[in-house]
Amino acid sequence: LTPVPSDIEISRAQTPKPVDQLAEEIGLLPEELEAYGRSKAKVRLSLLDRLHAQPDGKYVLVAGITPTPLGEGKSTVTIGLVQALSAHLKLNSFACLRQPSQGPTFGVKGGAAGGGYAQVIPMEEFNLHLTGDIHAITAANNLVAAAIDARMLHEATQSDKALFSRLVPSVNGVRRFSPIQISRLNRLGINKTDPASLTPEEISTFVRLDLDPSKITWQRVLDTNDRFLRKITVGQASTEKGQIRETGFDIAVASEIMAILALADSLEDMKNRLARMVVGTSRSGEPVTAEDLVCYCVVFCIQRGTPVFVHAGPFANIAHGNSSVLADKLALKLVGRDGFVVTEAGFGADIGMEKFFNIKCRASGLRPNVVVLVATVRALKMHGGGPNVSAGAPLPREYIDENLSLVAGGCHSNLRKQIQIAHLFGVPVVVALNVFRTDTQAEIDLVCQLAKECGASDAVPCHHWAQGGRGSLELAQAVNEAASRPSNFQFLYNKEMPIVEKIRTIAKKVYGADDIKLSPEAEAKIDYYSQQGYGSLPICMAKTHLSLSHMPDKKGAPTGFVLPIRDVRASIGAGFVYPLVGTMSTMPGLPTRPCFYDIDLDPVTEEITGLF
Ligand code: ADP
Repeated sequence: LTPVPSDIEISRAQTPKPVDQLAEEIGLLPEELEAYGRSKAKVRLSLLDRLHAQPDGKYVLVAGITPTPLGEGKSTVTIGLVQALSAHLKLNSFACLRQPSQGPTFGVKGGAAGGGYAQVIPMEEFNLHLTGDIHAITAANNLVAAAIDARMLHEATQSDKALFSRLVPSVNGVRRFSPIQISRLNRLGINKTDPASLTPEEISTFVRLDLDPSKITWQRVLDTNDRFLRKITVGQASTEKGQIRETGFDIAVASEIMAILALADSLEDMKNRLARMVVGTSRSGEPVTAEDLVCYCVVFCIQRGTPVFVHAGPFANIAHGNSSVLADKLALKLVGRDGFVVTEAGFGADIGMEKFFNIKCRASGLRPNVVVLVATVRALKMHGGGPNVSAGAPLPREYIDENLSLVAGGCHSNLRKQIQIAHLFGVPVVVALNVFRTDTQAEIDLVCQLAKECGASDAVPCHHWAQGGRGSLELAQAVNEAASRPSNFQFLYNKEMPIVEKIRTIAKKVYGADDIKLSPEAEAKIDYYSQQGYGSLPICMAKTHLSLSHMPDKKGAPTGFVLPIRDVRASIGAGFVYPLVGTMSTMPGLPTRPCFYDIDLDPVTEEITGLF
């Protein structure tokens, strides 16, 4: 329709196909499906075993240039491309997306279901709760936090003997260690299995995690942009006997458990990663893990989700920002050799794509065939020197009228650099220009011409937002063509390189920095993690997505800057070290007028209004 109706009107006008019918069409057996209502289902992992011998399809990553705060349409391109591949080129294809966090949905950006005639439906359910995985992550994460504080209280208020008799209770007069406790004893070098044989010193070593309250890295999480929880004091009730400490909240999708859900390639792998999560450091400087707290099994039970194709939603800054390895693996089997799986990486290519390659592909062993780089005329104009764009404010004139010199400026700076970044990994790049109503033909032609001059294998305009799959036909053909060429995939760095060198490589080669500058705190943490044996983990940079540099207002392709590393943290279970760049926050705040101002539920029709 012209004009294109609102996202929610389009979503409502569609009746989703019943999920069991859809499942049958894509070759799932009824017992492999667990329905959540009529239009959503989870898929059982047994599917991966059943399709073990099936060859994988082609693997396409959708990334983007550095976006404006409004988002440049990676999700719409992902959906539009899959619509065109399947409905028009008749190729089996799947989209794998992340589950949206309610932080952005109610905060600045709005939902993440795509938009126009290229969106995930029903979009209310997609944006709110879906199958409850984010809530399950929140519960699991906060259980670990509660276990930490409770354990510190108990250690502070009980003798070794009292702790031992509670941790290893006597059942019918016999004390026995659990397998997890035996594993802890072995790690402590106490090779005994009979509780009665431990010396008082060994009992003390065993029962006391002796967590250093100032070195606890595990935070509580909530899926709300609640800036006042960034720093809090816990334990102020008299029942906690003065065990007061400062801690804070992160957004739920930044939880290490979410990153683990996205990176695990089997339930076994997930359990092992959960056990390895480091929550803090003991006073003697040893890492304390979820296994030491004996809480990872219950976390595993809360988490025991089966994968879907909207699976996991790790944040793209503090975590790696990609949907799950398992969803991609399942989809690659389902589409078969000639089919396509299109998966999306959060933020610009400098962040989501770099992490997709260096973290997700390292974990999964999967190798992508093509990168689709999403660009918009509005973001290119911003990079070419246009005025600032902010959510909620009207777009300045430069973004509505034709302005070829701003477009060219953006292509020569940000677009060129983002294409070069994809080429560092040896993968062909197709630029998808997501066309907006105000874009002129001359602007569209210029972007496509300059993108090819900057090294893209192809560059095509996409009209999926206004036209659905038909509008992405040219993109589907370009992707199909690019996927038939050999891709010479390579990692950007060898993971055995020292942590500092890995950070420096990303800063210089990907962001265009002259060098990095470590704060004394960052330096100390790097030494600590290296000494603990975590030096060979890949790096997950927590950097603003609004610039290639650490300074959100520096657009284009900034040069001549030194990247400040404020702090370095690690998600040992998920398997990465994450440097915090500049002032990057792990709990977003709400703007003065958040998205939720417009959201309501009509009591008569029971429809949600204002969600987009
Ligand atoms: P991203 O995944 O890059 O964050 P989305 O695909 O979620 O971006 O799109 C962000 C918003 O922009 C959505 O509300 C979507 O409806 C809107 N949008 C995307 N492409 C277009 C377009 N071509 N014309 C108009 N609006 C668009």
